[in-house]
Parts: sequence; C-alpha cells; structure tokens
Amino acid sequence: MFRTEKRAHAQASSKVIHMNVISGKTISQSIFNEIKDCVSQLDGRPPAVAFIRVGDDPASVSYVRTKEKRAIEVGIKSLMHLLPETISQEELFAVIDELNADETIDGILVQAPLPSHLDERATFNRVLPDKDVDGFNSANLGRLVQDDPDGFIACTPAGVVEMIKRSGIETTGRHVVVLGRSLIVGKPAALLFMRKGAFADATVTVCHSRTQNLAEITKKADILIAAIGRPHFVTADMVKEGAVVVDVGINRVDAPETAKGYKVVGDVDYDAVAPKTSHITPVPGGVGLMTVAMLMANTFKAYQLHTAALKT
Ligand code: NAP
Repeated sequence: MFRTEKRAHAQASSKVIHMNVISGKTISQSIFNEIKDCVSQLDGRPPAVAFIRVGDDPASVSYVRTKEKRAIEVGIKSLMHLLPETISQEELFAVIDELNADETIDGILVQAPLPSHLDERATFNRVLPDKDVDGFNSANLGRLVQDDPDGFIACTPAGVVEMIKRSGIETTGRHVVVLGRSLIVGKPAALLFMRKGAFADATVTVCHSRTQNLAEITKKADILIAAIGRPHFVTADMVKEGAVVVDVGINRVDAPETAKGYKVVGDVDYDAVAPKTSHITPVPGGVGLMTVAMLMANTFKAYQLHTAALKT
C-alpha cells in the first residue's frame, strides 16, 4: 500500500516543488484501525498493558497520557501505576514483579527517563521478556540480533521501518545512514535495516558524536535516519538529491510567538531539506505517532503469544 501524501512546497523563488511527505498521522491511524478491528473480534478478556510512571516529568506525563488514550481507543485495557519520585529500586522492582506475575497483563511499559537514583538498565531487564512491549530488555535486543520473530522490537525504530514499508520504499542494497547510536533508536534501527529480507537488506552506516566528516557520510545516504536530539542539525548541504529522510528527533525550541512559548522541531531543517528529498517525515506528525502505534502493535502481539502459550 502506498500511503504518502503529495504536498506542494513553495520556495522563496515561488518555484513549486512536489515532494512526498510520509504522514505518520495517516499511517499510524491505519495501524490503530487494524488493531482495533483485531481486538473487536476477540473472545474473552482484551489485551492489557500496564504503564509505570515514576515522578512527574512533564514530557513523561504527556507521553504516558497519549499512550493510555490510544490504548483505550483501540480496545486495549490500560492500567496506570503512578509512583513517587522517591521510590527505591527495590520498591520499583516489587511493582514490576507483581505485574510480571499477573496473567491478565500482557505488556509492561516503564516510562523513561527514570529519576537518576534508579538504574534504568536493571529496571528494563526486570520486566519479563515476553511482557517487554518497549523492547528495551536485553533478551529482546538479543532476539533482534538473532532475527527471532517472537521478540519485541523497540517501538520507535520499529515505527521507522513500518513507515518505510507502508510507503513502498525499497531498501534492498541501498545505503542507510543512521545518525545516533542510542539503545532506544539508533542501534536497533541499524540492526533492523541490516537484517535479511524485505524492507531490510540495506548497507548500513552508523554515525555518532565522534564521527569525522559527518556531512560526507550523510551525503552518501539513500535513506537518512536522524536520531540525535539536536534541533535542525541536518541541513540541506548534508543530504543527497532524491534521498529519503526520516526525522526521529523531538526537540523543544523557544517560540515566544506561540501560546505555549515553545514549539517542537526535529533534527532536520525541514524547510531547507524537504525540497531535495524524494520522501521526508515531518515533525510533528511523523515518527512520534508511529512509536505509539507500534506500542499498541507490540501489546497485541504479546497478547497473542500469551494466549497461545496458555492453550498449550
Ligand atoms: P540519545 O540517547 O541522547 O542519543 C543521541 C545520539 O546522537 C548519540 O548516539 C549521540 O552520539 C548522537 N549525537 C549527539 N550529538 C551528535 C552530533 N553533533 N553529531 C553526531 N551524533 C550526535 O538520544 P535518543 O534517545 O536516541 O533520541 C534522539 C532523538 O530522538 C531525540 O530528539 C529524542 O527526543 C527523539 N526520540 C523520538 C522518539 C519518537 O517517538 N519520535 C522516540 C525516542 C527518541 P554519542 O553516542 O557519541 O553520544
């Protein structure tokens, strides 16, 4: 299915260039509809996801609220665990252990970042691998490396691949450059594109803060994935004509002219870069929505694996 939107882009010269904007809004809505449809046909209990939020970090409050809202919309039961900022590691583990043991819970999501006194890696690893719908657990990262289809893939890079796939963009033999090597985006994204098979089979280069001659490398990308957390870092001179650009960045920048006093921009200088691309994802309205869609997809998958295991 081809799900990109044709948009007209007017340059200062008033020359109009058409480009394909990959709409995370449209694609994520299709995924939500597909999951809602599947859930509506189930007998018995619905899939269920538990959210754990520690403290009141404003971004985390907003992310968890969005995830909860979407879960309800598609018919996934959601349970919210709001824990105090001062919770100890052992107390947090006890909450996770209880959810791990609860047979009516399919997925567990611990919203990052955690307060600095808590060990994020140990916390992610405490979640049972089969309930780790965030895909940050070492078992699921291992399953990704092993191409194990029963594993859970981190939602943001999974969303990037799904956007590419549903936009009909070929990746076989193409040069994918991933900017960023984090555990939650860059590293799994690189692994996904180097897998064997459709919408993979790419030649992958990973860049990070120590990479030299970065622009020389990004200019060679057929598909450029930007995930570094630097507003408008990727400029037009860093992008090849006709490239596909996927912007994962979510950065708040001051915007006194807006009611909130800030706006959200990506890692790509969208207005300057877009006219050079064959496809580009916007921010907002791009990868962020896909992350939530893939969380719902992972929860539904956990439910299917869980119920199948109970029958055997
Ligand atoms: P992160 O953990 O801070 O990792 C950033 C990566 O970018 C690191 O690998 C870092 O290199 C690299 N980097 C930083 N500055 C660089 C530079 N000047 N040149 C080259 N590489 C540079 O960030 P993250 O969690 O991956 O998130 C990245 C961005 O994606 C953020 O804006 C975040 O908000 C956004 N994000 C969006 C979603 C979504 O749903 N759309 C989900 C997750 C994250 P080193 O390893 O050398 O430090």
